Amino acid sequence: MSQSKYLSGDKVGIEEFLSRFDVFLFDCDGVLWSGDHIFDKVPETLEYLRSLDKQLVFVTNNSTKSRADYKKKFDKLGIPAKVEEVFGSSYSAAVYIARILKLPAPKNKVFVLGETGIEQELDSEGVPYIGGTDPAYRRDIEPEDFDNIANGKLLDPDVGVVLSGLDFHSNYLKTAIAFQYLQRGAVYLATNIDSTLPMAKTLFPGAGSSGAGLAKAIGRDPLSLGKPSQAMMDAVEGKFQFDRSRTCMVGDRMNTDIQFGIDGKLGGTLAVLTGVSKKEEFLEEGVKTVPLAYVDTLGDLLG
Ligand code: PLP
Ligand code: CA
Repeated sequence: MSQSKYLSGDKVGIEEFLSRFDVFLFDCDGVLWSGDHIFDKVPETLEYLRSLDKQLVFVTNNSTKSRADYKKKFDKLGIPAKVEEVFGSSYSAAVYIARILKLPAPKNKVFVLGETGIEQELDSEGVPYIGGTDPAYRRDIEPEDFDNIANGKLLDPDVGVVLSGLDFHSNYLKTAIAFQYLQRGAVYLATNIDSTLPMAKTLFPGAGSSGAGLAKAIGRDPLSLGKPSQAMMDAVEGKFQFDRSRTCMVGDRMNTDIQFGIDGKLGGTLAVLTGVSKKEEFLEEGVKTVPLAYVDTLGDLLG
C-alpha cells in the first residue's frame, strides 16, 4: 500500500497536515488553474492559508511568462497574490546567471532560445542577451549561413551562456548557432526541461522537447533551473529564507513538483489531482515518487 494519505473530506487530517507547515510552495498550472480556467475555491483556499499565517510562494516552470505576466494572470483570475511571491523558471535562470554564475563582462552575454518571459527576467537582473524574440533569428537557415556560422561571422564573441527554454519559434538556424556557442565553451543552461506542456485538452511538447535537438547535438543535458532541479530550490530558498522541514510543496506533477519537494528534503509534499498526474501513478506498489498526502482539488483543503 502507498504511504500517501488521502485528505479530501478528512477535516481532522487536513488540520493536522496544515499545522506541520509554515510555508507552502505552490505549483500553478494544474493546481490553481488549467489554462484560463480557475479551479473551484482557489482564492478562498489561499485566503484561508494566509489567515493561518502561512507564507505562500508560487513556483512555476513556465518560462514563457515573467513574474509580472504571472501577476497579471493572478489578477485576471481573481487570485490574491503579490508579484514578489511569484518565482518562475525564467527568473530562476536569471538569478542564477546574475548572482551565482557571475561571468565577468564582456563574455557574460546570454544566447536565448525562448520567449519574452526569459527576456524580461534577464532584463530585471541586468543580464545582457541576444537571440530570443529577435526576428533576425526567427527565419529559415540560408546556404550562406553555414559558412557564416562556421567562420564566426554570425556569432557574437561575448556570448558565454546558452539558455534554453520553451521556444515556440525553435528552428535549425538557432540550434546551429547555439551549438556553435556550446562547442566554444559557453555554459549550457535551461529554464526547465519538462518533456510536455499541459494545455486545456491535451499535452504539447514542452521546453525539454523544444530544446532536445541541441542537447542531442552536444551530447549532454543543460543544467536546469526549473523543478525538479535543486538549483531552483536553492534559488527559492535564497530568496525566501524558509525552514525546509516546515515547508510543503503542492503540485500536480510527480516528476517535477513532488520530486522537487522530495529531493529538497522538504517537510512534506501534497499532490492535487486536477493536473497532469493521476493517483494510480503514486498509489501503485514500488513507485519511487510518492507525495506525503493528496487531495482531489486544492479547494478540498477548506474542509
Ligand atoms: N511551461 C510552460 C510553457 C507552461 O505554459 C506551463 C504551464 O502553463 C508549464 C511549463 C508548467 O507550469 P507549472 O510549473 O506552473 O505547472
Ligand atoms: Ca503544474
